[in-house]
Amino acid sequence: MTGTLDLVATQVSRPIFEGIGPVGKLIFYLLATASTAAFAWGAWRRLRKYRSGRPSGRGPVMRAALASRLGSVAGGTTVARGNRATGVAHFLILWGFVVAFMATVILTVDTDIVRNISRLVEGHEDSFFHGTFFIVYTFTIDTMGFAFLVALCYMGFRRGVLKPKRLGYDRAGASTTVYSRSSMIAGDWLFLGLLFAILVTAYLLTGLRILGQHMPWFSAFSPFGRGVAEVFSALGMTPAQAVSAHSAMWWVHVVLALSFVAYLPYSKAMHMVLDGVNLLATDRSATLHLPAPAPGHPGYQEIGDFTWKELLDLDACTKCGRCHEVCPARAAGAVLSPRDVILDLRQWVDASCGGVTIFDRERRAESTGPLALKPGARIAGEVIESKALWACTTCMHCVEVCPVGIEHVPTIVQLRRSLVDIGDLEGSLQQALQGLATQGNSFGKSSRMRARWTRDLGFQIPDARKQPVRYLWFVGDFASFDERAGESSRALARILQDAGVDFGLLYEGEHNAGNDVRRVGEEGLFEMLAEHNLKLLSEAEFEEIFTTDPHTLNALRNEYPALGARYRVWHHTELLARLLDSGELPVRPLGYRVTYHDPCYLARYNGVVDAPRRILQALGCELVEMPRNRADTFCCGAGGGRIWMDDSALVERPSEIRVKEALGLEVGRFVVACPKDLTMFSDAVKTTDADDRLVVSDIISLIEEAVLWPTEPGIVTASL
Ligand code: SF4
Ligand code: SF4
Repeated sequence: MTGTLDLVATQVSRPIFEGIGPVGKLIFYLLATASTAAFAWGAWRRLRKYRSGRPSGRGPVMRAALASRLGSVAGGTTVARGNRATGVAHFLILWGFVVAFMATVILTVDTDIVRNISRLVEGHEDSFFHGTFFIVYTFTIDTMGFAFLVALCYMGFRRGVLKPKRLGYDRAGASTTVYSRSSMIAGDWLFLGLLFAILVTAYLLTGLRILGQHMPWFSAFSPFGRGVAEVFSALGMTPAQAVSAHSAMWWVHVVLALSFVAYLPYSKAMHMVLDGVNLLATDRSATLHLPAPAPGHPGYQEIGDFTWKELLDLDACTKCGRCHEVCPARAAGAVLSPRDVILDLRQWVDASCGGVTIFDRERRAESTGPLALKPGARIAGEVIESKALWACTTCMHCVEVCPVGIEHVPTIVQLRRSLVDIGDLEGSLQQALQGLATQGNSFGKSSRMRARWTRDLGFQIPDARKQPVRYLWFVGDFASFDERAGESSRALARILQDAGVDFGLLYEGEHNAGNDVRRVGEEGLFEMLAEHNLKLLSEAEFEEIFTTDPHTLNALRNEYPALGARYRVWHHTELLARLLDSGELPVRPLGYRVTYHDPCYLARYNGVVDAPRRILQALGCELVEMPRNRADTFCCGAGGGRIWMDDSALVERPSEIRVKEALGLEVGRFVVACPKDLTMFSDAVKTTDADDRLVVSDIISLIEEAVLWPTEPGIVTASL
């Protein structure tokens, strides 16, 4: 026993340059130097590109969440989200690659540093690559390498046989006759193929070495390499033949591995390095409260306008297609795909910087169009079509699902700011902005008409500018001016009044909160609206704010704090759920079978998903969830200013897609909690001829129907 342990501790090892003479070694070192130099040059060019971007201000975000983000990067959790098999395969590839890289570094340190220094200093060659260390090294690399290989095979099978649609790389709304992405597909296969070939030759090499050494006992610690040796032996190969084949295989393996090192910074393979950094630097809140324009430019016009994080975003994209798949604009037949935006910008930036890419780029017969590469091409309008930029609903689903932390929405808005600057926007949008600038609302109506919906209520809602109130109701344009939404506003006012809630309004003083104005790219107008509202809010006396409009909620909760606001802001469903939970609003069970549509700006942007469900439960409704619900919800198509734009060119409106989804659930009611949704879906049930099967109900109207009048009046005292 002691003898065996000694053997493990001192003697067991394997030769490094087995069968390679001095000339072979020289050639190896020359090739290794050349591939390292190619890698360094490519990496330096990339670094230079990112350094040409503006500072991103992401330092604090990266420091604050470093530990949890490192865990997420190491565990590949963002890739596994929504696709477990791909996540596991990705995890094995990531760690297989890390282990292979570390194994190479260890061999280099032992062979080129420890052995050479010990020979020079001590006069004999020393090495740590033997005994227990060698056994652990061998076992780890053999088993991890095999897992890596299996994962690669799965990825190849998925790409080549399962062929998920989102990996098809089709451009949104473009015919394949005008562009070709076959080079991107070739780049993907080259990446997978190179890794596969490196691993296969590594096992062949191990098998030949083990057979050449007559199957030594410690080869049991290379179970898969030993298996290959057994196969060679069973096929009739002798140890002598294995020794002579070993040298040839060694060269094949070495050339493949060194080629991969040289190829890495010029190819898709670089995402293995960049994605981790991008995930560490990502900041989801940059979509909730948008960044300011680049200094000196109203919107992005040149590479220097992008931050380094935005430039890194472009290279981090793996073309996985998750964003492409969920995009409501693409689903509706618009020419927008968030993946196309990222890939087009990447190609344009690379072309502008003289970047070198092996495959992985789109080709076009014409040098004009969205991929116009001529120097000085306008980014917004030429590199990325205006139509594509205006099609975005800013629903944030792309940001939510991207496994590598790419932030599409802030970039799209920066490009929209450029379009607004040059007046490249459609008439209806211009008209809405005009109304907002002159009257403070997108309906272009006199601000004196803002509170007309309060007439005929039978009671006067306090004016929060004149008397202190507990809750300030920031009503929003739609809930004030739209006829259908106004009915819900009246119902909510009655419910709150009868429940004894102390609330007030800003009346005609209120202006649009500016959420969608900012997302349209009209930064100056947003600032004007916000400044007006903030002044008014500072003069009113209240404790907390609530609103029925999720877009307004986002502006007040997430955008205004950057301008100095410090208010607690709630969505009305949070307030109503609180009243129902506490019994301050007694209701009878309605017994309806309903589905509920999560608004993007409520569920995805602000995480309010439980309150509406608690309300429906309290109302005794049977809730049948939409297939896409909560943060995975599908946009109605109204966000980001789309409600002010013409959607007649769409193949099918997102709201119509959503209604059809709901029809499959066999529910009688489609419940909404956003004034814009009430309009969007009420129209969609008509245009899809579903109005006899599906009733669109505002959650407020359901509460009004269920409330047991009269309630016991009282003052709501508990906080949310
Ligand atoms: S925000 Fe929504 S509409 Fe805009 S690109 Fe992303 S997924 Fe598409
Ligand atoms: S942007 Fe993100 S989600 Fe979209 S294709 Fe690229 S990696 Fe995938």
